[in-house]
Amino acid sequence: EDRSGIGSCEVFEPAMRARLKERCEMEVDLKAALDAEEFELYYQPFVDMAEKRVSGFEALLRWRHPEKGMISPADFIPLAEESGLIDRLGIWCLNTACAEAATWPETMTISVNLSPMQFKSDTLLADIDNALKTSGLAANRLQIEVTESLFLDQSDRILDILKEMRSRGLTVSMDDFGTGYSSLGYLSRFSFNKIKIDQSFVRDLGRQENIAIVRSVIGLSKSLKMQVIAEGIETEQQMRGLLAEGCREMQGYFFSKPQPKEELPRMIAEITKR
Ligand code: C2E
Ligand code: CA
Ligand code: CA
Ligand code: CA
Repeated sequence: EDRSGIGSCEVFEPAMRARLKERCEMEVDLKAALDAEEFELYYQPFVDMAEKRVSGFEALLRWRHPEKGMISPADFIPLAEESGLIDRLGIWCLNTACAEAATWPETMTISVNLSPMQFKSDTLLADIDNALKTSGLAANRLQIEVTESLFLDQSDRILDILKEMRSRGLTVSMDDFGTGYSSLGYLSRFSFNKIKIDQSFVRDLGRQENIAIVRSVIGLSKSLKMQVIAEGIETEQQMRGLLAEGCREMQGYFFSKPQPKEELPRMIAEITKR
């Protein structure tokens, strides 16, 4: 008999029990949410500082819960991964993001986050091909963001899938770069197209250690011929600091928060006229 699950709620403190109950409820709601069309994509711009233009957008998932309001992906993505819903949800994100991006100028890319769990699916590459085909979006306008946690699973399969993505013309980015444990090894085993410098290094750019890290990541990206983008830029000072280090592409609240698609024309106009 399995006593580790919900059945053993009694043994927990009341607060813990309430949290577990909330989690169980949310997991049930999550399953219904896709059919009820409660998910939405918000878009946050990537800014090319050299050309002073929007170079693309990252799609960020939102759940508009009928009672609980907006729920953060940090809260429901882990649940979707545990419950197995992440595959369907991920396919929905790919299809929706590609369809939206196909309406933008051809100079703009779309970046989609993939959960490591999605790489367990046998149909991931076919799902991507289908999203591109259905939307008519050119493969070189789709960027895939993965985190270092993908490599906790030491399989060659993952490297093969990433290689396949690249051979299709997709841009593969390593997200949250520098927060993991073995980034350098994986950068050399599989050359990513792009590195995204994590916001934790940008936040406190005044610290000498962080400047040193940012400087070496930018140097690394240049010597490995990879693109580099910094995320989490909130202030003009951070923007200037990164610019001085030679970082050309940036993303963060300083330029714009993630917004629904209706706001895109306004976002583009505001960033371009700065
Ligand atoms: P992430 O991919 O690292 O995305 C960056 C997060 O930082 C986003 O949070 C974004 O809204 C936030 N952010 C952007 N600029 C700034 C800034 O200047 N300051 C601060 N403090 N924050 C900023 P969000 O949208 O809540 O997403 C959280 C995480 O959830 C994402 O982190 C990503 O790991 C995951 N996620 C979001 N959408 C998806 C999705 O469609 N699929 C998957 N698998 N994961 C997703
Ligand atoms: Ca990301
Ligand atoms: Ca990130
Ligand atoms: Ca992150």
